[in-house]
Order: sequence, then structure tokens, then C-alpha cells
Amino acid sequence: MGNGARQDDSARGTATMAAPPCVSTDAVARRAVARDWGGQVGVVPAFVARPRTEAEAQEAVNWAVEHDLPWVPRGQGHSCGGRAQSEGVVVDLSGLDAVHDVGPDFVTVGAGMTWSQVLDVAAEHGLAPPVITDHPHLSVGGTLSLGGVGGTSYRHGAQADSVVRMLVLTPGGRVVRCGPRLRSDLFTSVLGGSGTAGLILRATLRLVPAPAVVRRVRLTVGGPRALVEAQRELLGDEKPDHMQGLVQVVDGGWRHRLDLAEFVDEAAGPSWVSGGRPLPAGLASRVEVAERSRHSHREFVHRGAADEARLRETGDWDAPHPWAAVFLPDAHAEDAVADILDGLTPRLLGEAGLVLVYPLRSIMLRAGRPALPQGAVVWLCALLRSAPQGDPAAVSDMEADNERVHRITAGVGGTRYRIGAH
Ligand SMILES: Cc1cc2nc3c(=O)[nH]c(=O)nc-3n(C[C@H](O)[C@H](O)[C@H](O)COP(=O)(O)OP(=O)(O)OC[C@H]3O[C@@H](n4cnc5c(N)ncnc54)[C@H](O)[C@@H]3O)c2cc1C
Repeated sequence: MGNGARQDDSARGTATMAAPPCVSTDAVARRAVARDWGGQVGVVPAFVARPRTEAEAQEAVNWAVEHDLPWVPRGQGHSCGGRAQSEGVVVDLSGLDAVHDVGPDFVTVGAGMTWSQVLDVAAEHGLAPPVITDHPHLSVGGTLSLGGVGGTSYRHGAQADSVVRMLVLTPGGRVVRCGPRLRSDLFTSVLGGSGTAGLILRATLRLVPAPAVVRRVRLTVGGPRALVEAQRELLGDEKPDHMQGLVQVVDGGWRHRLDLAEFVDEAAGPSWVSGGRPLPAGLASRVEVAERSRHSHREFVHRGAADEARLRETGDWDAPHPWAAVFLPDAHAEDAVADILDGLTPRLLGEAGLVLVYPLRSIMLRAGRPALPQGAVVWLCALLRSAPQGDPAAVSDMEADNERVHRITAGVGGTRYRIGAH
């Protein structure tokens, strides 16, 4: 954000003298925000702002604007491609984590709060966000700036669709309220706007009743086409609450899985998800049941915690992640997913990598830049690559493969999801 001007030493010197208290030149603090999840871009900023209040955030941005310094908002830094990096001022919003208000079906929080924290606040009131990303420790501002989708997005849209209103700091440093009917242009461009249209200070988020129990079934699927076809069968009457297709490298080959869950109360009877009832006919011919389980909603949201601990132990959590993520039009989903996955090798995904394939609907992302492809339903295909540490050749091969994925996507009228490394 900002005017992109490079600051020279004299400008930095003048700026440092007048800097507000939340702005620091501490080398450790600056290095801490010089990297992101992708690990391909490393920019050490001249300054880091760590506001604890909205007034401090405004003060820091106004100061950056006044001194002609480029600035960028940052949540948890879990994006790729240097989106939350700047050579000027990185405004680290993790201190804006206050709960401002909770109502019967909403919560208003600081944009630096993580979704895991939002979940905990909502749960105290028997509520939950309708969509939570697979890794729940991402900031509200960070995911709303890109979209934020999950296994419930074919029912509820993106996280951006759950925003009722926002308090935004404009690139010029003004604090403005916006919503679907109040400065709707600003509202639309900030949601999914990659932090370029304004800094989200606080957001009012729609909540839904929290499920008492989550019943989960994991199914083994024959291949890429069947992964799309099986989910397509479920877009009709037999909708589970959560649906994600996953492709992983197992013992050097591919494993295709469908992860389904239903959100129910304690007294719910048997269903095809929990067992005791046959799978829907269109599904039964395409899948085999691998595993069934039952969880609290919190356990389900944190279902990736064991994998995260393992990846931290092996060092893969901190490895380069040259991700590619695209939205495909419904009409070409089977062909495009098959094309993308047929050209993928285990080395190009990485042992710790994962591909996600699932359908979703979203009004806010449709209005954003770039818009979603045509059609009520679109398909996410996300290649969550993980390169071995210290292997630049693997990273550049993955980057080249991202170009292949983007060509296939453009050829069928798809668009890129900005969580990727492009
Ligand atoms: C392990 C993992 C799992 C993930 N799972 C999912 C998933 O299931 N679904 C999904 O959709 N995405 C997923 N993502 C991608 C993730 O949603 C995005 O990368 C998101 O931006 C990360 O949030 P963050 O707080 O780390 O944002 P950052 O990386 O800090 O910032 C991302 C972008 O948002 C901007 N920004 C940050 N805060 C604000 C703000 N307050 N106001 C305006 N702009 C701001 C930044 O400038 C930057 O452009 C995952 C990422 C990881 C690493």
C-alpha cells in the first residue's frame, strides 16, 4: 500500500526522529516480518509498526503517508509472494485483537484477531463462524483481504461473505465505516482486495449456531475425475455440512480422499455420514469408506493440529511453499482438475504437500478483483506445495509448474486465488 516510493537514508532519518511510539526500527522486529509462508520473497522493512489500538494504527499510517513511505498491513504473515511485505513500513496488526461487541448472531472484533480466537469467543455464546479456514490461526484481516474459503463454503460462501460491516483505514489514512449499503464500493474492494484498497481495523462477522457434534467420514476415491464427480453428486439433496477433496502423496503414489462432515446435535440418529444408512447411490459407486469419527466442533476446527506439530518437528512447516490456487468454472471442473493433476508429480507437490479440490459459492469474491469464473458454483483447486529445505531447483520446478496450472486455468475461464505465490 502507499505510493511505492523508495525511501532514501535522509528520509528514513527524518522519519525515525518523528516516528510515533508504536513504530520501531528494532532489527529483530524488522526481521520477524521479512518472511512469509511462501518463503520465496524476503524484504526487511525499514520500520515495523505494532499498534495496540485503532488510533495507533491510524497514527502509524498517517506518519508513513506523510513521510512518503510505502506501507503494508500484515496479519499472521501466512500468505505467499511477499503480499504482506514492504521495504517501507510493515503494519503488524496482531495487537488489534479486541472483542468490541457480541450479539445474538454476530461478533465485532479487531482485524488482528485470529479465527481460532473468534471461534473461542463465539463458542461462549453457543455460536460459530459459518466458514473457518483449514488452518484457524490466520488473522481476520488477512483472510478477508483474500477471501477465506473452507469446507463449508459451498453452503455459506467465503469468509468475506460473512462480513456485516467494517471499519477501514483508507490508503490516505482516513477511518471510514462501510458495509453492503454504506460506502459499498469501498466495502467490496477491501474484501478480497489484498490489502491494497484499505486496512481493515475491525470487522462485524455473522455467526451461526455452533454444532454440538461433528460426525465425519473419510472416503477413498479412484482419481481426479471421480473426486469432482463424487462431490458434484452431493451438491443436490444429500449435502453434508463440510466437503473437501484432498490429494496427497502416500508411499510415493497418489491418494485421493473425500472428507465429509455433518454438524448435528447430540440426539441425532444414524445417517449415511455416521454409518447405519447406505451412502447415496451416486456416491456409493465412486468411493470406499476409509474412516468414520465423531468430534466436538472445536476438535474438528483444530483437526490439522497433529499434522502441524509433525511438520514443525520435521522442519517442513518452515520450508518454502510455492503455492498455486485457482478457481475453476463448474462446466470445466472435471477436465481442468484432471489436466492439472495428471501433469503433477509427487516431487512437484512435495512429500508434505496437499491438493485441495472442492466446490464453493461466493457473492463477495464474485464482485472482487479478479472476479470468480462464471456460474453459481465454482471449484477451488489449490496446490499446497512444500519444497524440501535448501533445494532451490525444487522451488523453481514448482514455480514453473504453477505457470502450467495458470495456463490450464486461463484456458477454461478460471481465475487465480491470491493465496498463491504468483
Ligand atoms: C497453513 C495454511 C492454511 C491455509 N488454509 C486456508 C484455507 O483453508 N482457506 C483459505 O481461503 N486460505 C487458506 N490459507 C491462506 C490464507 O487464508 C491467506 O494466506 C491469508 O491471507 C493469511 O492470513 P494472514 O493473517 O496470515 O495474512 P497476511 O499473510 O499477514 O496478509 C495477507 C494479505 O492480507 C493483507 N492484510 C492483512 N491484514 C490486513 C488487514 N487488517 N486489512 C487489510 N489487509 C490486510 C496483507 O497486506 C496481505 O496482502 C492458508 C494458509 C496457510 C499458511
